[in-house]
Amino acid sequence: MASGTKDYSFGPHLIRRTEIFAETPLSFAFVNLKPVVPGHVLVSSKRVEPRFTSLSGDEVADLWNLAQEVGRVVEKQYSASSLTLAIQDGQHAGQSVPHVHVHILPRRPGDFEKNDDVYDAIDDASKVLASGRSARGGGGPGEKLDLDAERRIRTPDEMAAEAAELSLLF
Ligand code: AMP
Repeated sequence: MASGTKDYSFGPHLIRRTEIFAETPLSFAFVNLKPVVPGHVLVSSKRVEPRFTSLSGDEVADLWNLAQEVGRVVEKQYSASSLTLAIQDGQHAGQSVPHVHVHILPRRPGDFEKNDDVYDAIDDASKVLASGRSARGGGGPGEKLDLDAERRIRTPDEMAAEAAELSLLF
């Protein structure tokens, strides 16, 4: 498994090789522009295909093998104890980038007030009721958090630094 040998398309976006930390023949793993929790990364098919249901068997196997390996690495690297892996397959399932990608999120006890709030966060729901602490910190009891506003867009340098660190682990 090599990391970051070339740039790849992610739907309409270009993912620079500096943001890619692992690569297999049919898939690549890269850091997130707006992570929901520390270590929230993405694994995508190299072929630009919107729907998971349209991937070939080889692409599915390659994608999930890489997702499994990436999950192992980010869980350890971010001192987590569990993982959320999710695909939003199609626009009406919340997909915002029309290119198959697995979300991989390291999880810790109490990182979300309610465990399933993670799916609202992934779905980029604009508001969620957080009656305690949130994964992003802040938020007093009963305070409404604007997840999108809280998720800061990172700079290319920040993303490259994280990818460089993760690439050493593959
Ligand atoms: P979804 O809504 O399931 O399609 O998820 C899209 C994911 O892609 C979100 O986690 C975004 O933060 C992430 N994202 C969007 N644009 C980029 C980009 N240029 N580089 C890295 N991650 C991105």
